[in-house]
Amino acid sequence: MLEKTGIATEEMIMNAFPSIDRINKGPVAVIECYQNIPCNPCQTACRFNAINIGDDINNLPKLEPDNCTGCSICLSKCPGLSIMIVDGSKSQDTVLVKLPYEFLPLPGKGDTVAGLNRAGEYIADVEVLSVLNPESFDKTPIVTIEVDRKYLYDIRNIQISEQSQNNKEVL
Ligand code: SF4
Ligand code: SF4
Repeated sequence: MLEKTGIATEEMIMNAFPSIDRINKGPVAVIECYQNIPCNPCQTACRFNAINIGDDINNLPKLEPDNCTGCSICLSKCPGLSIMIVDGSKSQDTVLVKLPYEFLPLPGKGDTVAGLNRAGEYIADVEVLSVLNPESFDKTPIVTIEVDRKYLYDIRNIQISEQSQNNKEVL
């Protein structure tokens, strides 16, 4: 399926997500790395031993959710943009999601942007809570959005909407 469509199956996605109990405790990584490729910067970047690839660099990375602090460092180091951070500890109705976002222009804090699924289809408007782009992230900015909980397993990207751009021009 992944080879044919480029989109992970529901089973693959659910296996990549930590349990909802862990997500509700605080920020935690979701690693959607589904192909055995020689790559390991995520493991090298994690100071908390939360990512394990093992001796064979072609292995898929495994997350130890209880070791993960949600620090986001691995997210900015992954060349495949395969990692996001989810946090269900702030609200019963919404989750916070940190996504790598390498397009320009970047959105701004407070913007409303279009939330997209893995197929690039529109799901819902979402609010941008912050945009981090320090030099240490090496040109992989991290955008934090707040999303209705029902989209937790669907949201995977954002797109700046025309309305958002209009607001920027007014500002
Ligand atoms: S978010 Fe931080 S603690 Fe969690 S896996 Fe990534 S680098 Fe490790
Ligand atoms: S850095 Fe990204 S692409 Fe490379 S193994 Fe880790 S999750 Fe997969």
